[in-house]
Amino acid sequence: MDLRHSLAGRTLRLAVLRISMVVVCASVISYVLNRSLIEDAVRAQLLLSTEKTIQRESLPFREIRELQQNFLAEFQAIDRDPLQRLALVRSFDDIFYRHDDGSYTQRPGLFEGQPLGDGRRFAHMSATYAPDIPPSDDVKARFVLSYLLSHKYGSVTQGRLFNFYGVLPEKGFPIYQAADIAKVFSYSGPQALQLETYEFYTRGFTSSKSDTFLTRMYFDSSNNAWMTTMATPDVVEANGQHRILACVDILLDDLMERLARPSIEGAYSTLFLADAEGTLMFHPQQMEAIKQTEGKASIQSLHLGAYHPLLHTGGQLEPGKVVLVDTPDDIVAVGRIPETPTILTIHYPRALMQPAILQNLAVVAALGLVTLLVEVFLLRSILQNQVTRPLQRLMRATRAVGATAELEKYDLPVQSEDEIGELARDFTRMSERIYEAHERLESMVQQRTLALEEANQKLAALSITDSLTGLANRRHFDKVLGEEWGRAMRSGSYIMLAMLDVDWFKKYNDHYGHQAGDECLRCVAHSIQAHASRVGDLVARYGGEEFVLIVTSTNPDGAQALVQSICQAVQALQLPHLLSPFGVVTVTIGMAATVPLPSDQPTDLLQQADAALYRAKEAGRNQVVQA
Ligand code: GH3
Ligand code: MG
Ligand code: MG
Repeated sequence: MDLRHSLAGRTLRLAVLRISMVVVCASVISYVLNRSLIEDAVRAQLLLSTEKTIQRESLPFREIRELQQNFLAEFQAIDRDPLQRLALVRSFDDIFYRHDDGSYTQRPGLFEGQPLGDGRRFAHMSATYAPDIPPSDDVKARFVLSYLLSHKYGSVTQGRLFNFYGVLPEKGFPIYQAADIAKVFSYSGPQALQLETYEFYTRGFTSSKSDTFLTRMYFDSSNNAWMTTMATPDVVEANGQHRILACVDILLDDLMERLARPSIEGAYSTLFLADAEGTLMFHPQQMEAIKQTEGKASIQSLHLGAYHPLLHTGGQLEPGKVVLVDTPDDIVAVGRIPETPTILTIHYPRALMQPAILQNLAVVAALGLVTLLVEVFLLRSILQNQVTRPLQRLMRATRAVGATAELEKYDLPVQSEDEIGELARDFTRMSERIYEAHERLESMVQQRTLALEEANQKLAALSITDSLTGLANRRHFDKVLGEEWGRAMRSGSYIMLAMLDVDWFKKYNDHYGHQAGDECLRCVAHSIQAHASRVGDLVARYGGEEFVLIVTSTNPDGAQALVQSICQAVQALQLPHLLSPFGVVTVTIGMAATVPLPSDQPTDLLQQADAALYRAKEAGRNQVVQA
C-alpha cells in the first residue's frame, strides 16, 4: 500500500508534525529563557567580579595611604619635640652638602651605602634642596627628619613600592628610591628641578586640606613608565601652612596590565578619573591618545559620547560601589576604586552572549531531533507490528473470504488483546457465518436452478403444446412450417401439408356433449399422431376440430398414402357418431404438396390444402383430396 495514504504513514506524518511543533516551541521558549538567564548570570558575574577587582586594586593605595599617615604622625611627633629637633638640626651638616649655588644634596657616598661618622647608613636615599631659600633651623630639622623617615619607610617597603619621599614646602626633597636623583636633577642648568611645576607639589601645598590625593597619570621618561603620585599633606598649622607632604610614586603598568585582562572572557576595561573631564588613565583603544597628551586625554576631549553616562554614574558613586549601566552594545559595570578618584568600567559586549544562547538553542533542537527520531522509530515499529501487519493480514483475509474458509493460513491476530485482536476475532466469526451462509445459499441456488430448469422445460413444452390433445399447437406449427419451408426451399425438396377436419362435429357435440367431444378430439389426435411419427413429420392442432400435418419425410405419393391411411385409421377407431351418415367419427383431409420457390409463401400451401379440404367436404367427406 502507498505509504502516503496508509494508516502508519499518516500517523508518522502527524507524529513528525506534532514533535516538530513541540521542538520549535521548546526552542523558542529555551531561546527566550536562556537569553534572560544568561544575561542575568552575566550581570551577576560582572557585578561580583568588578566589586572584587576594585577592592583588590584599592589595597595598594590603602597601604600607601596608611603608610603616609603613619609617616606624617611620626613626623609630627618628633617635629614637636624641641630636643629631638635640636639633634636633627645638628645632623643636617652630617647628611647634606651645600653646593656653590646654595642648593643642597646628600653627601657623596650616602646613596651608595657609605656610613656616616656615627655609623648610620642611608643607602638609596638621595635629596635636593632649593638654593633660593637658605635653610633655617626649622627647615633643617624638617629636612633631616623627612630624610630619616623616608629612608625608614622606603627601606621597609623596598621591593613593593617604587619609592617613598617626604617633600618640604621649601622645596626640600629627600627621597628613597633605586635611582639617585641628586645625580639626575639639580636646581640649576637645563636639568634643573622645578618642584613648583609638579602637580603633587602644587596640589599638596596650595590647599589647606590634608586628604590623600592622586595626581593625574604621567609618563615618566626616566623610568619609561606610566605613573601617578599618591600624596598626603600633613594637617596645617594655625598659620595655614603645611610642613611636610608624604609622597609615593606608583607604577601603573601592572595595574593596566591587570585591567586589560578582566576575569570575564571577552570583556574589556577602562579606567578614568572622576573629574569633570573624565581624564582617561586606561582605555584599550585610546592609549596612543593618552600618551600623546601626556595623560591629559579625557572622555570629553576625545568626545567619547558613549562614556558620558558612565562618567556621570561613576562620579556619583561611593568608593567601592559598583552599578550596572546598559549601553547600546555593552553591559557595563561601573565602580569607584576605594582610596582613589578613579572609576573602573568593565564592559561586557552583548554579542558575546549570542554563541552561548545559540549553543543552548542547538542543544534543545538536537534533543528535539533525537526525540523525534526515537519516537518515529518506536511509532513505526509499533504501528508495523501492532497495526499495519495485522491489518494487512485482515485485508488479505477479507479479500479471500467467500472463496475459502481457511482463515488459519492468514495467521490473524486473534490472540491479541487490543482492538485489532477484537476486530480479528469478530472478523473470524463473521467470515465463518458468511461462509456458512454462502454454502447454504449455493445449495439453495442449485436446487432452485434445477427446479427452474424443469419448469422452463415444462413451460417451453407447454408453449408449443395444445393442452387438450397434447399435439403441437398452432404457434409451433407456424414456426415449424416456416423452418421446413425454408429448408425445403434451400434443398429443393417437397413439403406436403394436409388439413384434417372432423366431420359433423357440431352434431357430435350436440348429441354427445362437449366433454365427449373433447374426448373424441383426443382420440382422433392420438390416431393421427400415431401415423405421422417420423422425423420431419409434424402433427398440430390447427384450431377447433381441425388438425394439420406437415410431411417432409417422403414424396407427395408417400404423403398421400400416409394421409390416406390416417383417414382410414380414424374411421377404424369406430367412435360412434349417430348423427353422421357414416355412423362413426371420420375425418376429411385436403392435401397440398410443393417444392417451394422464393416467390412462394407458406400461406399459399395452406390455402391450397384448405381449398382441397373444402372440395373433399363437398365430395362427401371421409376422404382425401389432393390439390
Ligand atoms: P362439417 O362436416 O362440414 O365439418 O360439419 P361440422 O359440424 O363438423 O362443422 P362446423 O364447423 O359447423 O362445426 C364444428 C364444431 O366443432 C363446432 C364446435 O362446437 C365444435 N368444436 C370446435 N372445437 C371444439 C372443441 O374443442 N371441443 C368440442 N367438444 N367441440 C368443438
Ligand atoms: Mg371445421
Ligand atoms: Mg368439421
